Amino acid sequence: MNLKYELRSGWKVINEMNNIEAVMNYSKEYMDFLDKGKTERKCVKEIERLAIKKGFKSLCNIEKIVPGDKIYAINRDKNIALFVIGKQDIEKGLKIIGSHVDSPRLDLKPNPLYEGDNMAYFKTHYYGGIRKYQWVTIPLAMYGTIILRDGSKVEISVGDEEGDPVFCVTDLLPHLGAKQNEKTLAKAIEGEDLNLLIGSIPDEDEEKDKVKMNILRLLNSKYNLVEEDFLSAEIEVVPAGKARHLGFDSSMILSYGHDDRVCSFAAVKAILETENPEYTVSVLCADKEETGSNGNTGMHSRFYENTVAELINLQTTYSDLKIRRAFSNSKVLSADVTAGYDPNYSTVYEKNNSCHIGYGVCISKYTGAKGKSGTSDANAEFVGEIRNIFNEANVVWQSGELGKVDEGGGGTIAYILANYDAQVLDCGVGVLSMHAPYEIISKADIFEMYRGYKAFFNK
Ligand code: MN
Ligand code: MN
Repeated sequence: MNLKYELRSGWKVINEMNNIEAVMNYSKEYMDFLDKGKTERKCVKEIERLAIKKGFKSLCNIEKIVPGDKIYAINRDKNIALFVIGKQDIEKGLKIIGSHVDSPRLDLKPNPLYEGDNMAYFKTHYYGGIRKYQWVTIPLAMYGTIILRDGSKVEISVGDEEGDPVFCVTDLLPHLGAKQNEKTLAKAIEGEDLNLLIGSIPDEDEEKDKVKMNILRLLNSKYNLVEEDFLSAEIEVVPAGKARHLGFDSSMILSYGHDDRVCSFAAVKAILETENPEYTVSVLCADKEETGSNGNTGMHSRFYENTVAELINLQTTYSDLKIRRAFSNSKVLSADVTAGYDPNYSTVYEKNNSCHIGYGVCISKYTGAKGKSGTSDANAEFVGEIRNIFNEANVVWQSGELGKVDEGGGGTIAYILANYDAQVLDCGVGVLSMHAPYEIISKADIFEMYRGYKAFFNK
C-alpha cells in the first residue's frame, strides 16, 4: 500500500502495458479527425460518418428501441448526441460524456467586405477567449455556410487543401513598432484590428472600390454570391494547416482545436467501441461552449433533454417524471481540457494541484474563479467512484485545477448537467498554450483519457 500519493508517468505505464503502438495509432486517427474537423459543423459531419460506419442509426428513422441499439441525433448541423441503449430502462439513468466541438476563432462580421487603400479585407469578430496578438501573421483558412438570396445553401472552404490560397492578419514591422511595443499585450492588437487581408488586384473597369469589386466578381463566379449574401452567412476563420507531431520523440501534438476536439474524439471513440452496456451510454458534443453555452446548439439548449425524452418515448410510455428521473440518476463526465502545467510560466500554477503533461487524464473536482465561483463541485462520492473505475482499469489519472487560487479561472459545461441533478465530474487532459492558434497536448494523456472514458462506459 502506498501511504504517499505520487503522480504516475503516463509513458511509463504505456510502456509497461505495451501500448506504445496503440498510442501512436490512436494519435494518428485523432490528427486525421482534427484535419477534417476545423469547425463545429465539420466535426459533427465527421462524427456522424464514424458513427454510421459503426452501425449507428439516425433517431429520425427509428420507431422502437431495444437494448444494444446504437442511435445518433444531430442538432442544426452543429451538435451531435450518440447513444447505445442499455439493458436498464433509460429512466434508471445514463452514463454521459459531454464535450464541445466549437473552438476559439475569428468569425466574419455580417457585412465584412471593405477596401482600404487598394487592399481588400474582411472585418472579423473574434469568437471565444483569444489572446488577439497571437492571431496575426499566421496563415488562416476560411470555412463557411452561406444562405443565398434564393434560399440555397453554399458551403465554402478555402485554405486547407493543397494549392489553396490562405488569408492573413498583418502586424507592424519591428522597425516601426516602437509605440506598439509600449502597449500591454491586451492592447497591442485590438478587436477591430483583426482585419483579414483577402486581395489586392484592382478591377480597372470600376470607378471606385476596384479591389473590392474584383473580389466580389471572383466570389460571384465561384459561389454565385452577391455582397448581401454575407448577411445570411456563418463564415469562420481558423488557422490553416494540419495537426503536427511535436518533439524529437513525437510525444505531443501541435494543432488548432484541441480544446475541445481532443475530448470529443476520445468520447466518440469510447462509445463507438461500447456494446450492450448495462445502462444507456451517451456522448454529447455541444457547440457554443466558448461563448457561454447559450443558443439553440449550446449546452443550455433543450436539444439533449428533448432527445432523451424522444428515446424514453420510444422505449416505454413517456412521462415527465421518467425524464426527470433519467437525468437525476445520470452519471456524467464533463469532458473538457484544462491548463497543463507550463514550466515556462510556473508562477501562475500551484504545482501540487496542477495538471502535468504526460501524467494522464485529469479530473477537476471543481472549476470556477475566485471562491470557486460558478462551479458545480463534484461530490466526494462520485469522485471516489470514478477514481476506482480508473484504478481498476490501470488508467493513468491525476487531479488538477486551473492555476493558482485567484490567478484567474474558467469553467466548462459541467454545471449545466449538474443543474439537472446529475452527478458530474470534469475529466479531460491538460493543454499547453490553450486557446492559441496552435495548442499542445501529450499523446500519453489523450490515450489514457480514451481508456478512462471506455472504462467509465463499460463499468
Ligand atoms: Mn473547452
Ligand atoms: Mn476553451
